[in-house]
Amino acid sequence: MIEELVKAIKKSNYLVALTGAGISTLSGIPDFRTDKSGIWERYDQSRIFDISYFKKHPEYFYKFAKEYIYTFTNIEPAIAHKFLARLEEIGILKSITTQNVDGLHQKAGSKKVFELHGNPFRSHCLSCKKIFSQKEIEIMLKDSDVPLCNECSGLIKPDIIFYGEMLPEDAINSSIAEVEKCDLMLVLGTSLVVYPAAYLPEIALRNGALIAILNKQPTHLSGRAKWIIDDDLAVTCSMLIKYFE
Ligand code: ZN
Repeated sequence: MIEELVKAIKKSNYLVALTGAGISTLSGIPDFRTDKSGIWERYDQSRIFDISYFKKHPEYFYKFAKEYIYTFTNIEPAIAHKFLARLEEIGILKSITTQNVDGLHQKAGSKKVFELHGNPFRSHCLSCKKIFSQKEIEIMLKDSDVPLCNECSGLIKPDIIFYGEMLPEDAINSSIAEVEKCDLMLVLGTSLVVYPAAYLPEIALRNGALIAILNKQPTHLSGRAKWIIDDDLAVTCSMLIKYFE
């Protein structure tokens, strides 16, 4: 199975990847959809990432962000991130579309990454749109529970896409354009339940591309994928990367 997939990767003309929370769990970031322990016991994720709740109670989000999101910078990429970065480095992988907001693909060395749900490294004032870096926010959070804009005192929100917000159109359009060009798509660590990410492999299939799903849980496209590898993702990626060293 692995050898056959390796061959297909090597002879692909346009390989793209789609990644989800399952690859970040390898770096120690718990997935709130499958893991109700730890941080997700103490915070209600449906409130944390809800835009109307955020506007009323931003301190709830920022308490969580201090404890969790702003620690992402100390987390290291896992073997799955490194495998994809390696494939891009040798010119095989053309781009990654991710549902993750942790920046681990870029940290592993991937260059062309489309973030469907944004990221916390940049923030902006909801009133005057002024941009702030994560560092600036972290400094503000030392003296206050909620960072406010130094120009207009407006509320600052990180550029993560919250429930109730539009997804970034440029990231979606670029991802679709990439998928339309691909002849092989790797789907890693996502159960394909969240749209529009879940829709991308369907576009690939419709265009006659092959898909390989590397995920523990079955997905709605399991029956149509050429390869399904439901073994431990870290083990699979450690095996795969050896063929591309
Ligand atoms: Zn402002």
